[in-house]
Amino acid sequence: MALKTHQDWLDARQNLTIRAQALIDGKFVAASSGRSFASVSPVDGSTLAQVADCGQEDVDLAVAAARRAFEDGRWSKRAPAERKAVLCRLGDLVRAHRDELALLETLDMGKPIADSTSIDVRAVANCFAWYGEAIDKIYDEIAPTPSDTLALVSREPLGVVAAVVPWNFPMLMASWKVAPALAAGNSVVLKPSENSSLSALRLAELALEAGVPPGVFNVVTGWGPETGKALGLHMDVDGLFFTGSTAVGRFYMEYAARSNLKKIGLELGGKSPNIILSSYHDIRHAAETSANSAFFNQGEMCTCPSRLIVEESVHDEVVDVLLAQSKAFAPGHPLDPATRFGAMVDERHTTRVLGFVDIAQEDGATLATGGKRVCMDSGGCYLEPTIFDHVRNDMRIAQEEVFGPVLSVITVKDVDEALRVANDTPFGLASSIWTDDLSTAHRAAKELRAGLTYVNCYDCDDMTVPFGGFKESGIGRDKSLHALDKYTELKTTWIKLSK
Ligand code: NAD
Repeated sequence: MALKTHQDWLDARQNLTIRAQALIDGKFVAASSGRSFASVSPVDGSTLAQVADCGQEDVDLAVAAARRAFEDGRWSKRAPAERKAVLCRLGDLVRAHRDELALLETLDMGKPIADSTSIDVRAVANCFAWYGEAIDKIYDEIAPTPSDTLALVSREPLGVVAAVVPWNFPMLMASWKVAPALAAGNSVVLKPSENSSLSALRLAELALEAGVPPGVFNVVTGWGPETGKALGLHMDVDGLFFTGSTAVGRFYMEYAARSNLKKIGLELGGKSPNIILSSYHDIRHAAETSANSAFFNQGEMCTCPSRLIVEESVHDEVVDVLLAQSKAFAPGHPLDPATRFGAMVDERHTTRVLGFVDIAQEDGATLATGGKRVCMDSGGCYLEPTIFDHVRNDMRIAQEEVFGPVLSVITVKDVDEALRVANDTPFGLASSIWTDDLSTAHRAAKELRAGLTYVNCYDCDDMTVPFGGFKESGIGRDKSLHALDKYTELKTTWIKLSK
């Protein structure tokens, strides 16, 4: 029975079974060292579980299990149609366990339960089904060579793939990597964030139930500088695909260079510009959507449109709407289905975001609303949605990724200045422009240096399109058929034909 009320979710929490050991070679195991760390809920500060703190030895075991599974072909040599059936079954199981998975996600990282159920879990199920459905419909190539030779161009799985992911969409960011990697026939070792290990473990257990053979999808839980680094430096990992901050992404490039030059993919941070021009016919709609996108998921979004670049003639109207709309994001209990804005992921991150509020004021930005920690007696981590006006693009609040509910308004004279300011950032993940002028829209779509450009919308989403960044926002793309490029090698086979 679907859970409907706040009380339903609180009751469900009492009956929740939590897996907190690593999943290696099809079995839940404690860390070899016996060490564990507390998974603390940002909802109320309670300890949810003691999670296995995996070290080098556990990473070695997981990689060895993945290697054995890859070499004996228990998954890698299965027909694509068979892998498809298993991945589609996993999608069905995710859907069938929607409430349980959503509860784990919300308790672990604080997002509203309404979002966990209707966005995260649904998207995870779709992702596995999508790559499952795709994989038996992709053909390799025969090259147009002279008639006495045959040249085949085929895609081969990489082998052992490691995936290291963040906490803002824990299961979804994992699925964007695990689903195409498994579809292509690889074995996987996943390291979730230490802030959000729980749903990854349950997902991998459901994968076993769906028919993914033991050893093919392993999960090692633990801290980045130990567990993540051990995967990054591992000599028997063929590819490492990372989603997280730009600073840590640099480490993974270095790990790859210092070890076996493993293939890497990096999905990194952003500081996305969102331009509202007076030529858009519905300024209220543009401003409302901008606030909704900036505060969605507590602003803990890589694509958060945190720099709102407004043409000066519509500045006042835009700011009025933003202030009014921010009220719809009053923090609430994440297990209340009516809540739209939940808890920040943990104490450390909450303090970091508040630090940016101080920095922005010291640099001369005007605090228009928010900026404070609230709901202190809950024991959890709650911040007000925050808007700064009169921000200059060279201020730290406009240049660095805050990864929280902090929106900066930057005023510009015209479209030329807007595009210049938009591109004046080391990042290049998402961007957007609101205008009714077709030529301006096309010009912006070409000139904005970002992997994603939205015109008259924000955060449209679908499995069919690639997702990733230019510049310091990353290397490579998740989602769509293009993601399969990451998890495969191209093999050329020449065959000399006899007369
Ligand atoms: P993070 O970089 O701190 O951590 C990400 C992962 O790296 C975690 O699993 C962590 O344990 C590990 N890690 C941390 N330090 C490490 C080290 N020294 N060596 C090896 N591994 C290490 O990021 P986060 O705080 O978990 O997530 C927020 C970041 O993720 C933001 O920058 C956000 O923009 C980015 N993100 C990007 C995308 C995208 O698709 N581009 C999507 C979601 C989040």
